[in-house]
Amino acid sequence: MIIKNISLRNNTGLFTIHIVDHIISKIEKFKADEIYDDNDVIDGEGNLAMPPYVEPHIHYDTLLTAGEPRWNTSGTLFEGIGIWLDRKKSLTKKDVKERAITAMKWQIAQGVQFVRTHIDITDHKLTALEAILEVKEEMSNYLEIQIVAFPQEGIVSFNGTENLIIKAIELGADAVGGIPHFEFTREDGVESVKKSFEIAIKYDKMLDFHCDEIDDEQSRFIEVVAAEAHKNNYGKFVSASHATAMHSYNNAYTSKLFRLLSISDISIIANPLVNINLQGRFDTFPKRRGITRVKELLDSGINVCFGTDDIFDPFYSLGTGNMLNVLNMGLHVCQMLGYEQVKKSFDLITTNSASALNITKDYGLEVGNTANLIIVSGKDEFDILRRMAPIEYSIRKGKVIAHTIPSVSKIFINGTNEVINFNK
Ligand SMILES: [Zn+2]
Repeated sequence: MIIKNISLRNNTGLFTIHIVDHIISKIEKFKADEIYDDNDVIDGEGNLAMPPYVEPHIHYDTLLTAGEPRWNTSGTLFEGIGIWLDRKKSLTKKDVKERAITAMKWQIAQGVQFVRTHIDITDHKLTALEAILEVKEEMSNYLEIQIVAFPQEGIVSFNGTENLIIKAIELGADAVGGIPHFEFTREDGVESVKKSFEIAIKYDKMLDFHCDEIDDEQSRFIEVVAAEAHKNNYGKFVSASHATAMHSYNNAYTSKLFRLLSISDISIIANPLVNINLQGRFDTFPKRRGITRVKELLDSGINVCFGTDDIFDPFYSLGTGNMLNVLNMGLHVCQMLGYEQVKKSFDLITTNSASALNITKDYGLEVGNTANLIIVSGKDEFDILRRMAPIEYSIRKGKVIAHTIPSVSKIFINGTNEVINFNK
């Protein structure tokens, strides 16, 4: 396969990518008059090619259940958790698989090829986990999926969670989760983090915590996560998701915290769509934005990326898993709409997420890497975000797995008709 006439991030001019046996064999300057000895040629028409989007945080088990058995009327995380606990009682493998596969198809159409999903394992039957393990296998040619054994109801505060995590790992989970701010007491929260680390290190697994997803400025479990990561020299395998309480920490404490985060080498996964909805619900006015300090963390050299978290479920009632929606919201909420900031921000849904998920080899448009890439309908990152441009092609292992034909509109003014294409 040959992909000609494309732009590349951080480069000027146009390029041609040659793919042989699923591998990127050559990247060269595009020559308009060149005739290729290959009948599989895609004309990129000057659009931007980049590595596939990475979804670092999504719940495949809860998605597409909004309104079942009831809607979240307060809009808070804790009401959402209560609704999910009721919905969880009626889970079947078929139900979980059908919903997950629907969402996966949306992701594939929108340029996602790598995913980390949190699956609630505080269920003695492990129904959702077994379902997602099966789907992971069935979809493996299209999506590379990591499963976090996520103890939604806590580790210390729920009977038997430790054994359930271990069972989940033995069945095939890739990472150990935690939710320290949901445990009954601060001490239980600290103990839960330590237990997660013990299990992950023993079984050689990654860690990803739901960490401080609350507007309580006293919720400081991220320091415990980072300290454990540092002590065990394990930071590159550890992520703290959400970390919204950091929004409310005082600056003196945050300054001290940033040093620890920096030396610990952990990643932060923010979920701006969902947290702008869930947080600030107990505030009157002014209302906090409920997102971690993205710009400041990045400026301090700490790895940050953005995830979707939820699609049409008790925590967030909209969405299709489109990473540009996530990025758009995050950049607005964090006031990062400067030209250079927008251009650089695509790292937050590509390379930074890949790094958080430890996808460090074979990701990126480089000679020798597997030919996994997307071609987005726009000339550069700023252009793409401004118009929320679709993915024209998603290519995995040298094969097209999604092709979107951008839509056009006709307008009728003064007796004429004109075709308007927002996507070009
Ligand atoms: Zn989550």
